[in-house]
Amino acid sequence: LPDILARRTEVRRFVPDNFDAADPQQVARLFDDLDVRHVETRDQLEDLILDEQELEGCIYERFQMAYVDMTADTTNEEHERVYLSLLENVLPVMQEREFRLKRKVLESPAVGELSETYSVYRRNIGADVELFRDENIPLIVEDQKLGQEYEKIAGGQEAEFRGERYTTTQIEKFFDVPDRETREGAWRARAEAFHRDAETLDDLYDKMLEVRRKIAHNAGFGTYRDYAFKEKKRFDYTPDDCLAFHRAVEQHVVPIVAEIWEERRRKLGVDTLRPWDVNVRPNDPVVDPDGREPLRPFQSIGQLSEGCARIFSQVDNELGEYYREMQESRLLDLENRPGKAPGAYMTVFSDRRVPFILMNAIGSKADVETLLHEAGHAFHYFLARHQPLVSYHFAGHEFSEVASMGMELLARPYLGEFYREADLHTLLDDQIKNAVSLFPWIAMIDAFQHWVYTTEKNGREERKARWVELERRYRPWIDWSGVEEYRDIVWQYPHVFDVPFYYIEYGIAQLAAFRVWLNSLVDKAWAVGAYKNALSLGGSRPLPELFRAAGAKFSLSEETIGEIMRGVRGQLK
Ligand SMILES: [Zn+2]
Repeated sequence: LPDILARRTEVRRFVPDNFDAADPQQVARLFDDLDVRHVETRDQLEDLILDEQELEGCIYERFQMAYVDMTADTTNEEHERVYLSLLENVLPVMQEREFRLKRKVLESPAVGELSETYSVYRRNIGADVELFRDENIPLIVEDQKLGQEYEKIAGGQEAEFRGERYTTTQIEKFFDVPDRETREGAWRARAEAFHRDAETLDDLYDKMLEVRRKIAHNAGFGTYRDYAFKEKKRFDYTPDDCLAFHRAVEQHVVPIVAEIWEERRRKLGVDTLRPWDVNVRPNDPVVDPDGREPLRPFQSIGQLSEGCARIFSQVDNELGEYYREMQESRLLDLENRPGKAPGAYMTVFSDRRVPFILMNAIGSKADVETLLHEAGHAFHYFLARHQPLVSYHFAGHEFSEVASMGMELLARPYLGEFYREADLHTLLDDQIKNAVSLFPWIAMIDAFQHWVYTTEKNGREERKARWVELERRYRPWIDWSGVEEYRDIVWQYPHVFDVPFYYIEYGIAQLAAFRVWLNSLVDKAWAVGAYKNALSLGGSRPLPELFRAAGAKFSLSEETIGEIMRGVRGQLK
């Protein structure tokens, strides 16, 4: 890791300078110190909270550094050992101790005297403590084990195509080739790989539902849905709001997406759109209807980074300076190289108060989008890091993705840094089309789960029937004839197994990101100012306030969604 990280800029209030967060005994000792404190007065209580948050930040930073080391070079066994040792030895101590302290805070006679600053914090720890049940500990472990079983089955799926075997990810490279027969063959091969395990996964899902039902009942909830909403800290919206979102997407988004696909159908010159002409899963590559070569926006990592640096400076001076700071302090690891973990992420070092971005750039259009996106997350941290509580340095996904998706959109006027005028037109339109096209899928995945977790009779056949109905409502343009058995199991998607109900966050955030962007078309300085203002609040305020600060409205109603979609539709060429 960069040398700059050897230095800390801020003086700590509680954690000693020589503290080693990788040593479980040192960690336990500091928690002991907090545990035995008196918290009768407001000052004592605030000290406890601030000290605990600082400690948490130090430990979290140690985890993140180990994670960065490990992902930057997966062949280094020492890095992996350090990370696993933290997971095994420090994480359990931290979780158990943190929980105890949350209780201590809530039981303090001074808790009612805490200022407004602490209200979101109190709300969050209140939910954690309220949900906790001893008898749920083994069930939560059981749920995680079932999740691992899912990962194992999904990770082992292989597609056979033209005499070769591919993982279900590898075979996607044929999904966007111009030759339709190749696409069809590859798509069918993957679908068949999914289909082979469909019954096994159905049984596994039944087990998960059973375990989750028990967890919810133990915690005093009628359905797992209600439990999950509290567990996800969804204080600011209800299941009914989500149902309204599903209706709004059907009414205001599906017609626009239908138009987009109809245009593609015409360009492709086909009678109907078959599953291999579209993206059945949201990240599947799709054939270019104009048959263009992929764009190559940059040749070297230096060009990628400099191009983005210029874009950020043009969006906003201060954001440009933050990015320069990341460049100079080597807080960016952008290039793809052997041994590096795939994917991209932004993480933060909470003690040193700096963000870090890792990605795997190879020269594609997606790389530019990724860096703009992750930098949006990094700016969020730069702007929010002054918040007194470490937990306020982060907002929930509903808002943190506004920072990143919003940056992708605010960068649009400056993409000439990477693309020729002739390519920009289509590129800018495609960006919007892709973002809009995700909404039907979000609604389907969310609606499916609302139904599953609130309906008694939700066995294999009912799930199929329910999914087919959702396909008809939200993606009527896909012609499934002859491949219906593959359609019926499309709901068997990772999030549905692993992270129940986590998905609508992307839709909520995209709506606000669209609003920020539409605002910027009217008054850029104002819109960017509001965006930065909202980011600087971190997670310190409830969602409606964060959205309002950003110049958006927190609402999943037909009215709000309809209005935003009309605005977005108006921007398409
Ligand atoms: Zn993101």
